Amino acid sequence: MSASLAASEPKTKAAPTNGLSPAVMATYARHDLVFERGEGAWLITSAGDRYLDFGSGIAVNVLGHAHPRLVAALTEQAEKLWHTSNLYRVAGQERLAERLAAATFADRAFFCNSGAEACEAAIKAARRYHYVSGHPERWRIITFQGAFHGRTLATISAGGNAKHLEGFGLPPEGFDHVPFADIAAVEQAIGPETGAIMIEPVQGEGGINVAPAEFLRGLRELCDRQSLLLILDEVQSGMGRTGKLFAHEWAGVTPDLMAIAKGIGGGFPLGVLLATEEAARGLTAGTHGSTFGGNPLATAVGNTVLDAVLEAGFLEAVQGKALRLKQILAGIADQHADIVEEVRGQGLIMGLKLKYVQVADLVKGSVNENLLVVGAADNVVRLLPPLNIKDEEIAEAGERLSRALDRAASAAS
Ligand SMILES: *Cc1c(COP(=O)(O)O)cnc(C)c1O
Repeated sequence: MSASLAASEPKTKAAPTNGLSPAVMATYARHDLVFERGEGAWLITSAGDRYLDFGSGIAVNVLGHAHPRLVAALTEQAEKLWHTSNLYRVAGQERLAERLAAATFADRAFFCNSGAEACEAAIKAARRYHYVSGHPERWRIITFQGAFHGRTLATISAGGNAKHLEGFGLPPEGFDHVPFADIAAVEQAIGPETGAIMIEPVQGEGGINVAPAEFLRGLRELCDRQSLLLILDEVQSGMGRTGKLFAHEWAGVTPDLMAIAKGIGGGFPLGVLLATEEAARGLTAGTHGSTFGGNPLATAVGNTVLDAVLEAGFLEAVQGKALRLKQILAGIADQHADIVEEVRGQGLIMGLKLKYVQVADLVKGSVNENLLVVGAADNVVRLLPPLNIKDEEIAEAGERLSRALDRAASAAS
């Protein structure tokens, strides 16, 4: 360290934002809220203020906060073994891979720690697949406007959001962006270098846009006809969020590769790339890796989340709760037709598209009602409750949201 940066020298402090310590990079526009603990769908500050959590840490806490089964699984594993690296077999990883394979289209799993890494692995798997199949030229991937696949350089390039790309130099090549749910545009974009199509069955960050079933089926047909791989990003829409284990099941199609994360760890960082045997062909020893990916702690939790979501009746219960939430949101949209343009979504990933009111203002207004919701693009407020949310909590959230909308409407008029 140079003398001028010695600890004794005063350092220039950045102005704090929303109470955030200037020691933390201000990459997020945060609420000035610090939670001390959680109980189910509730987050509690050190002062004892209780917030109803309809964001679930962005679709992560599928079983709510501090679920006793997850706490037990994590602490039991913590006393035995945390980490060994992937130089050795990891029992929990093999078990989770086999169970995910049994429950889905997949034959193989690669473990990582986040959604972006799972998407990055999917991109690499698709390119390597064509490479080992004698078509190294087929490395381009068709992606969709409004997509979000993470914040690594490759995934911001895949997403194509100008705000995410600005200032980071020339984006990694190889992604062709087409309008969402436009099969003709996809067909037109396919060229001799195209190797895959990558899509979120429900765009989350993009504003809760549900891909129509016939569109997903159209993509599958195109991929089959043109020997392309279909990559689904179910990082947000998966793990029971839509009332099926994965959203694509509603359309009756299966992908070749699928990225999952968020819900699978229930709050513990865990990402997985799932693949058919064929699509996994390229990722052989030494071609890809992750130090932490699928470590004993993460997979102990992942296996326990999967236990709960696969339990008889769990997904049916999600569908019932989803119907209830949809009815409440439809009522709210009618009641606030002046500022709510549309109700969107599927299952427990729902959105209200607002007009005349900025989503950031409504999110703040909801915080004032002790309700946590999440903004999305296209001026949409996102509702992502824990999947085991109680009916009375759904009703309570509806009332709080309705009050926040009332307030927003009168402020806007
Ligand atoms: C959140 C998200 C990602 C990125 O996940 P991280 O864990 O933040 O890297 C990728 N794809 C989708 C659809 C997401 O919602």
